[in-house]
Amino acid sequence: MENKHNAKIKTFYTEKQVCFDAIKDHSFSQSPLKPFLLMKRIKKSEFSLAFDIVDDFSPFKREDFLSAHTEEYVDNVFNKSGNYRSNSLPWSENLVKSLTYTNASMYNAMRHAYLNPTDLCFAPVSGMHHAMPHSGSGFCTFSGQVIASVKLYEEFGAVGAWFDLDGHFGNSIEDTRTFNPLVDKAIPKLCNVNPRGYEEAYLSNFEQHLELIGEKIKRGEVHYVVFAHGADSHIDDDLGGSCSTKNWLKCAELFAEWVNVISDEIGRPLPVTLTLFGGYRKANYNAVLDLHIESLKTCWELIGREKEGSVAA
Ligand SMILES: [Zn+2]
Repeated sequence: MENKHNAKIKTFYTEKQVCFDAIKDHSFSQSPLKPFLLMKRIKKSEFSLAFDIVDDFSPFKREDFLSAHTEEYVDNVFNKSGNYRSNSLPWSENLVKSLTYTNASMYNAMRHAYLNPTDLCFAPVSGMHHAMPHSGSGFCTFSGQVIASVKLYEEFGAVGAWFDLDGHFGNSIEDTRTFNPLVDKAIPKLCNVNPRGYEEAYLSNFEQHLELIGEKIKRGEVHYVVFAHGADSHIDDDLGGSCSTKNWLKCAELFAEWVNVISDEIGRPLPVTLTLFGGYRKANYNAVLDLHIESLKTCWELIGREKEGSVAA
């Protein structure tokens, strides 16, 4: 079946995208550690067989950040000057280095999915969607999703849609439209989807957006999607949230089933990248990790796959 996805999740992960320095004890947000904590937890389970890890991608250089940020702000972050603390994270050389890899993980996962749509891709990263051209914000330093989408547009003319199910509005895309007019081409208006409401209303809002983006895909106006299933849209998150566990996981189910329907309708696998985004629970961070794992598992189990060479479900 040429509209099926492969059995493994192509995962762009290296420990270089993790910041170990000062996060555990001196940061409200554990997101800079999350790629490591999540992959470690996955490795302990049989689910690890579903992951095909790519760890040799190149980090971003300073210049790569300039499609979404001013030189002054990028220099501030790299050199620990000016508004380098606007991300509310403890600065370290480790943090800066990890950022060159988290942003590259996002880009490489999306690029791979676009060029190899049979591969369901995964970028285990967070801390991007509140960043602005002149500063960081809300534990986010650089607008990795904007940079990746602009690169894909520049390289291939590829247009993307973001399903941003983090509990907080992903302002980076909207806030960068004036700074870099290519954002309007790379992620057109209405393609930065942030569902609103609570519980069933949230689900039906998400479904409406899936339908709208589906129409754009069928008209050839959108070529790839990214599913950012932030765990802070769960009702028990320290920073609020919209959905019970049942409804939060239902979002992953709705997304996966929609991918199958769209892939059937266009006669080829829709390029899909999964990513993490937020999630904050001081008392039980494993609950955040487990939500992410259950969402990944749901997508992996439901998104149609080739039978040959598939791993045990
Ligand atoms: Zn959030």
